[in-house]
Amino acid sequence: MEMNNCTHEKSEAALQLIESLTKRADEVQKDVLMEILRRNTETEYLGKFLHGRVDKVSFKLKVPVVNYEDIKPYIQRIANGDSSPIISAQPISELLTSSGTSGGQPKIMPSIPEELDRKTLLYNLLMPIMSQYISGLDKGKGMYLLFIKAEITTPSGLKARPVLTSYYKSSNFRNRPYDKFNVNTSPDETILCPDSRQSMFCQLLCGLIQKDEVLRVGAVFASAFLRAIKFLEEYWAELCDNIRSGHLSEWIDDPPCRKSVMRLLTANPRLADSIAEECRKQSWQGIITRLWTKTIYIDVIVTGSMAQYIPTLDYYSGGLPLVCTMYASSECYFGVNLKPLSKPSEVSYTLLPNMAYFEFLPVHKQNGTDDLDLHDSNGTENGKIREDELVDLVDVKVGHFYELVVTTYSGLYRYRVGDILFVTGFYNKAPQFQFVYRRNVVLSIDTDKTNEEDLLKAVTNAKKLLEQYDSLLSEYTSYADTSTIPGHYVLYWELITREPMEASVLENCCSVIEESLDSVYRRCRSKDKSIGPLEIRLVELGTFDLLMDYCLSQGSSVNQYKTPRCIKSQQTLNLLNSRVTATYWSQRCPSWTPYRPDLKARCQPN
Ligand code: AMP
Repeated sequence: MEMNNCTHEKSEAALQLIESLTKRADEVQKDVLMEILRRNTETEYLGKFLHGRVDKVSFKLKVPVVNYEDIKPYIQRIANGDSSPIISAQPISELLTSSGTSGGQPKIMPSIPEELDRKTLLYNLLMPIMSQYISGLDKGKGMYLLFIKAEITTPSGLKARPVLTSYYKSSNFRNRPYDKFNVNTSPDETILCPDSRQSMFCQLLCGLIQKDEVLRVGAVFASAFLRAIKFLEEYWAELCDNIRSGHLSEWIDDPPCRKSVMRLLTANPRLADSIAEECRKQSWQGIITRLWTKTIYIDVIVTGSMAQYIPTLDYYSGGLPLVCTMYASSECYFGVNLKPLSKPSEVSYTLLPNMAYFEFLPVHKQNGTDDLDLHDSNGTENGKIREDELVDLVDVKVGHFYELVVTTYSGLYRYRVGDILFVTGFYNKAPQFQFVYRRNVVLSIDTDKTNEEDLLKAVTNAKKLLEQYDSLLSEYTSYADTSTIPGHYVLYWELITREPMEASVLENCCSVIEESLDSVYRRCRSKDKSIGPLEIRLVELGTFDLLMDYCLSQGSSVNQYKTPRCIKSQQTLNLLNSRVTATYWSQRCPSWTPYRPDLKARCQPN
């Protein structure tokens, strides 16, 4: 099939850009670093280390590798209204709330307007890459379910919001030039609707109305796509009624959203019947291709923690290819998948050298079972980084693990993102990476990232409730259960107790744990409803001894054995599940209010 000329030319240009950037990866990286330093060497932060110098050697020698806590005071000052050039010579235009947290609140990342152009550049590469493998995608539409989230205005007047909310609200997205490759079934007004239920209903309605034109479906993360399927299960009858009558449900009262859907909605009883016929069936296996019959692939991220959703997606799609197109974050966008049809377990991302200056901290992974593999030791001696160990983008070695460190155009210098990557090969001079895991994260269902410390703190709070019953929590571990939609956290508890506990006590424990988890968890659980109620499973006495025996039999060292705080392997889960004596669920949603920066925080340099 022939593409139209304009789309064809744009596509060619995009592919040529990838060639040129990857062939000159070393030069591009050098130029990026020089440009960032030239612009920002006089900022308060860089000035302290570089004293006006603009050269790579000084940068590598003098500028420290940092975590969020090191730069938090500077960012906090920006949020509080200090507009002097603290970390960026270009004024910070907004703050992006990350799903990583610090002190229970989202980390906030600075951004400048031109970052939107870098993001647009990366998005514009995705369909040209895809069309190298699948032709005719310009002949149909994509049903992409995209959402915005709550934002707040900080005392500085700057908005603080998630990176995708920022992008969808930007003129780069709203005024994007028409492109046959990127025709979406969701009108922008439905994506930009602040009420997530109305947004979801309207996007699914528009997707169903145009279902015969849809060639690909997707969302950003797998969890969001499955949430949409669950929503469809609950609302299909009402959606069909709307299509049958041509009348949009009255509860859709966001004016722009309503107006945009009304433009597409006309009474179509035949279409409504055909949808209802499929949805009414007992089994929803393969529902995606039964409704959107021309779908070629599902575009969702299923690498990293999202891999847990692959079996459920396969069930609903009848095994359609799952395509992971890009790798990005609030700090900056990183790269693209040049082989989008590769299996999820084989996906590698090629970092684009013009996005930021990338460095890599070697990671030495410890051996052990899957459950223990989460621990790593990386270039640190007593927690201190050996700065001279960091390597440049083009110098990473195939077969090695690294932690990603970025220097961005918007004020992050040698910042540890926390992602652990594995080098699989090179495309021209640009390395390709498998995403391995996020440092420290043990549990994740949606965008939540719970680490061992958070989990321990939450469990410690809950176990106080047991004291008055003369009961003791002797051991615990956890598991992200995604067999339900939405998924939920499961904790396995071994209790030493005199007599059986009342259900209400353990249900309260579930609630206290949820209250103690960070604000991203509580938002997902209470506002987005993308996480279900937390569950505690009591196990028989002696279960954790068996767990230890099992881990040792799988190669863990006796001396170094620590109870895995999160279980990944099915065999280990089977062992625990076979010893469960009772289960309890949280009976209420935890409290959540939108992120507010700590107004009292003051910068304490050094
Ligand atoms: P956030 O800071 O909330 O913007 O989330 C960014 C993080 O999400 C990254 O640092 C990764 O840990 C994760 N992430 C983003 N894209 C991918 C991907 N394609 N595969 C796996 N994890 C990803």
